[in-house]
Amino acid sequence: MRLKLAAGNWKMNGTGGDLHVLTELAQRHTHPACELLICPPATLLHRAAQAVEGAEIAVGGQDCHPQGNGAYTGDISAQMLIDAGASAVILGHSERRQYHAEADETVCAKALAAQAAGLTVIVCVGESLAQREAAETLQVIAGQIAGSVPDLASGNALVIAYEPIWAIGTGLVPDTGQIAEVHDFMRTRLQDRFGAEIGGQIRLLYGGSVKATNAEEIFAVPNVDGALVGGASLTAADFSPIVRAL
Ligand code: PGA
Repeated sequence: MRLKLAAGNWKMNGTGGDLHVLTELAQRHTHPACELLICPPATLLHRAAQAVEGAEIAVGGQDCHPQGNGAYTGDISAQMLIDAGASAVILGHSERRQYHAEADETVCAKALAAQAAGLTVIVCVGESLAQREAAETLQVIAGQIAGSVPDLASGNALVIAYEPIWAIGTGLVPDTGQIAEVHDFMRTRLQDRFGAEIGGQIRLLYGGSVKATNAEEIFAVPNVDGALVGGASLTAADFSPIVRAL
């Protein structure tokens, strides 16, 4: 059985005054039926980890560098995330791929470093609107999985998030048939590559305009093991119903 995961990606949002969201979540979800993860900006990680201490909520980073340390101004290593209290990291988000020109090889190198450091890795994949309209979705996903997902020993420490770029922050959501098609395809690809057991353990999240109003329908799709939530993870009022829908 794959443990469902509700992951919040705060992106470049949040300062110290927003830590109450975490304490509110901890109060609302004392015995969550799923795993709960919040990825705040790096500046908040340490305080976020302290805010959820003793609660069943984990915190994670939004990126890390492939190297452990060195002359990389502005970058953060996997070890630093762990030092700040993180147990997971989001890698290869489409905003990193787009605004920081991250190629699959870079994402893969980061994922290797993060895994070696002991972090759970959430690798993001997803097609653009032009690629979907050109019927290239599955080809794009296959390429991103092949290029960005490192070889691994344990399926539990790896999560893949399918996030169609056109659905992120837009209010547009693929229909359940489209989500099912991609998630089934990813499952098959992962099992072909890693074997039925490990490929069957890897959790597959859906991300892109997940809200309280559509969460239940999305979570009912086979091979959807949770969600990566952006905008609706910024308040406990918005995120809680999504957690409960899992
Ligand atoms: P959204 O973002 O929920 O605001 O659409 C999802 C994401 O980019 O992870």
